[in-house]
Amino acid sequence: MCSVEGKRDLGSCPRRAIVGNDYQFPEGVRHDLDIGDATQEGANGERRANLYNVTPPVLIWLRRDLRLDDSHAIVAALKSGAPLAFAYVFDPATKHRGVGHAQLGFVVEGLEDLQSRLAERGGGLIVRRGDTVQQLVAVATELGVERVCANRDEEPAADVVERAAEVALRGIGVELLVVDDEVNVPHELVLTKDGNPCRTYSSYARGVRRVLAGLPAPPHDYDLQGRLLATPAPEIPSVETLVGRPVTLRSDVQGGETHALARLRTWRDQGFLARYAKDRDLVAEPDATSRLSGYLRQGMLSPRRALHVADRAGSSKYASELLWREWFKYVLHHHPDLAERCIDPRYDQIEWVGTDAHFEAWTRGETGFGMVDAAMRQLLETGYVANRARMVAASFLVKDLHVDWRRGEQWFRTHLTDGDLASNAGSWQWVAGTGLDAAPYFRIFNPTLQEERFDPTGAYVARWAPDRPAPIVEHAIERDKTLAAYKAVAAEKS
Ligand SMILES: Cc1cc2nc3c(=O)[nH]c(=O)nc-3n(C[C@H](O)[C@H](O)[C@H](O)COP(=O)(O)OP(=O)(O)OC[C@H]3O[C@@H](n4cnc5c(N)ncnc54)[C@H](O)[C@@H]3O)c2cc1C
Repeated sequence: MCSVEGKRDLGSCPRRAIVGNDYQFPEGVRHDLDIGDATQEGANGERRANLYNVTPPVLIWLRRDLRLDDSHAIVAALKSGAPLAFAYVFDPATKHRGVGHAQLGFVVEGLEDLQSRLAERGGGLIVRRGDTVQQLVAVATELGVERVCANRDEEPAADVVERAAEVALRGIGVELLVVDDEVNVPHELVLTKDGNPCRTYSSYARGVRRVLAGLPAPPHDYDLQGRLLATPAPEIPSVETLVGRPVTLRSDVQGGETHALARLRTWRDQGFLARYAKDRDLVAEPDATSRLSGYLRQGMLSPRRALHVADRAGSSKYASELLWREWFKYVLHHHPDLAERCIDPRYDQIEWVGTDAHFEAWTRGETGFGMVDAAMRQLLETGYVANRARMVAASFLVKDLHVDWRRGEQWFRTHLTDGDLASNAGSWQWVAGTGLDAAPYFRIFNPTLQEERFDPTGAYVARWAPDRPAPIVEHAIERDKTLAAYKAVAAEKS
């Protein structure tokens, strides 16, 4: 059954639906999400058997939405009146590949937290390991469900799994309903006035605000007490078990919705949100920014909840940064190969002449440039780096060491707790100047000036990179080489 049929091309995915009554949908799009009644009868009228001997539940397939607050999949499932069951699958084929230990540890913590939150509300969390599709089918069969609800994971690889899951579940008579959840306004609704996809962040942000002004999308509040199926609490595997060897966890933020909501609240209440616009680039100050990116990445915090808090506090700067995250998802939606190809194909002709030795020095934080080295060592030790230092370190790799931005992108994504395909690849292309805005290649950070300006007391560099090896290159010379290389390909007609 197709839940959404729009006039616009919503892709060939028939499962997509947009939840909530807050948006006005384009003509022809259904938004009542008719997901049936509570009796969960099978096609021939029989009641489905399940291990729990209760009204068959609706199963929520958790992906990158490890929370109970303001989840569109939960909103959709609640409409049935049936009890809700929750399942998460650790799949070595899809989840672990390319995901570093810091992020995996964060997910494990998030699941432990979710398990307690569900138990407090009378529910449970089913956790399985193995092939996602097989495990989903097994859980759906054990529970006797007719419907599985999930929030959409917008990454291309996740879409492949989703399609396979849909087919397999349909094979056992179970419908998979997937709803948009990762951004405040579904991508299809954000267009330029002439109906085309936005090409710049500012037109995107204006488009989002236009939609939200007419049709606000506040977070959903619902009570789950008495609505959940109490499933037994399995032991959640440790990161060591998942990766099969000892791991030293380094992340200095703890995963889980409880911590996400607490951080958002205290960061606002202690006045940091009010100072954000002024302080956000001060790299030595840990509370200058919200540190919520890992939570947003794993859906431990709702993007609507975060934007709502920013708007209510009147912080347009914080709100606009939250929308950068959504902009990059929009870009990925339109450029699924964002991590592989330059958005402007002319820049794919650049010859990356940087050496492996220079790349390795960069990864170890041994370039001799204070802010670059501090950022790279902080990354390895904690899985986190502030935005300003990320920009300086990334720019240095591409514009001073002439190493292909894709190598840096992979390194960051593997080691960041918040490593995110859209935000990371989008930011790397922005820094590399490979097509995400108008006059990009002139943007070359001077690492020494950046350090003076954004680490004025030297505290950041002193903490993470107190020793100063000799600089491995001279910035002014490398800058000129980069300008020449970019100019040569930019001169070609796109
Ligand atoms: C080279 C490079 C790579 C990056 N890789 C990632 C990544 O893999 N994952 C990731 O979430 N962010 C990435 N960013 C964006 C940004 O650096 C982080 O989101 C931010 O530093 C996280 O810290 P915070 O939560 O304290 O941010 P805050 O300043 O408190 O911002 C609040 C939220 O807004 C979003 N946000 C803020 N700035 C940006 C931005 N420039 N682009 C996209 N979203 C933003 C994040 O979700 C963040 O949590 C990257 C930036 C650069 C320059």
